[in-house]
Amino acid sequence: MKPDLFQAPDYYQIDDLLSDEHKMVRDAARSWVKREVSPIIEEYAQRAEFPKQIIKGLADIGAFGPYIPQEYGGAGLDQISYGLIMQEIERGDSGVRSTASVQSSLVMYPIFKYGTEAQRKKYLPKLASGEFMGCFGLTEPDHGSNPGGMTTNFKEEGEYYVLNGAKLWISNAPFADLAVVWAKDASGRIHGLIVERGMEGFTTPETHNKWSLRASATGELIFDNVKVPKENLLPGKSGLGAPLGCLDSARFGIAWGAIGAAMDCYDTALRYAKERIQFDKPIGGTQLQQKKLAEMITEITKAQLLAWRLGVLRDQGKATSAQISMAKRNNVDMAIKIAREARQILGGMGITGEYSIMRHMMNLESVITYEGTHDIHLLITGMDITGLSAFS
Ligand SMILES: Cc1cc2nc3c(=O)[nH]c(=O)nc-3n(C[C@H](O)[C@H](O)[C@H](O)COP(=O)(O)OP(=O)(O)OC[C@H]3O[C@@H](n4cnc5c(N)ncnc54)[C@H](O)[C@@H]3O)c2cc1C
Repeated sequence: MKPDLFQAPDYYQIDDLLSDEHKMVRDAARSWVKREVSPIIEEYAQRAEFPKQIIKGLADIGAFGPYIPQEYGGAGLDQISYGLIMQEIERGDSGVRSTASVQSSLVMYPIFKYGTEAQRKKYLPKLASGEFMGCFGLTEPDHGSNPGGMTTNFKEEGEYYVLNGAKLWISNAPFADLAVVWAKDASGRIHGLIVERGMEGFTTPETHNKWSLRASATGELIFDNVKVPKENLLPGKSGLGAPLGCLDSARFGIAWGAIGAAMDCYDTALRYAKERIQFDKPIGGTQLQQKKLAEMITEITKAQLLAWRLGVLRDQGKATSAQISMAKRNNVDMAIKIAREARQILGGMGITGEYSIMRHMMNLESVITYEGTHDIHLLITGMDITGLSAFS
């Protein structure tokens, strides 16, 4: 792969909207990605392997629980800092960002928000340091966009809950030490349970042959009469709103992360267009390629402003789920379109692993589907503005 020459675009001086702390956190993540992710990621993606050696570095830049209070091992940062860290990591690779998002928003967040003090103390510091890695089991083979239909269930039996069912498409599953699993009790109400690797009847087979997020490990969670101690239930919130609260946090991170992938594609295409000579002049001097590049920077700038404003609203505790849906949908769509256009600017070179664009493009095919598909987020906006549900 080519050396990482990335220069972040900031067409509207959005840096002026950031605090010194935001910029410090962002710059630390940016240089770590340049040093530790860029040189190795292509090889790991080609091999379809998660680079486990970067776990400690992810922890060190605050990517595991950026907004979790320091007393539980988190970085104690605000939402904009969290977003900026996700942006920088996804600038390197969406699969690496997925690992960090799952750990922070889908594992640490529910334990912090819905867990007991004993659960927080037991799990959060180890998750923040990367000693424990977690995964989040919501999607099932027959219930993706409609997780409320899940059939994974548990029944009380003495000191335990006995868990049965299966989850599919679970990021981090193959190597996770623990899983936050969403399952129905005997009355059909959804609860979160912490299931630990090693519990009898719990297996995590890996999903192979992905063309997307190849540097992120994905798998199934199978529960065959798993005896989960009662103290592993998250008591603070039940019902579908509990996992959806976690998804709000993760989707917010994706809205920022997608900007990173888009910036990397744009920056690569811009540099290439200025250097690549055809018909005795740089292709960047042609109107057609300038149209592509000008539209890219316009869309990136709009996405940056959307994410920044959403970050302010989240820091003020005012962001709605529907606002988060809009940003996730818009920014991922923006990024995937930019990846496709950038790929074309590089001509044949665009399909090779010499450049990051094709990897970003393939990764974004998952990002546009997981954490609520492109369609589902549109329906959420539609429901929000009309007051009418088009889901069923
Ligand atoms: C790489 C990867 C990693 C993932 N990681 C995780 C994870 O860590 N944990 C987890 O729990 N899940 C995870 N997922 C699952 C992901 O969230 C689901 O794939 C997603 O929610 C969509 O579900 P589905 O694939 O079953 O598609 P479906 O729900 O079957 O949807 C298929 C199509 O139908 C459309 N559709 C569905 N309902 C409607 C409707 N009412 N109206 C109009 N159109 C509709 C959808 O938009 C989509 O285009 C991951 C997925 C991938 C690909």
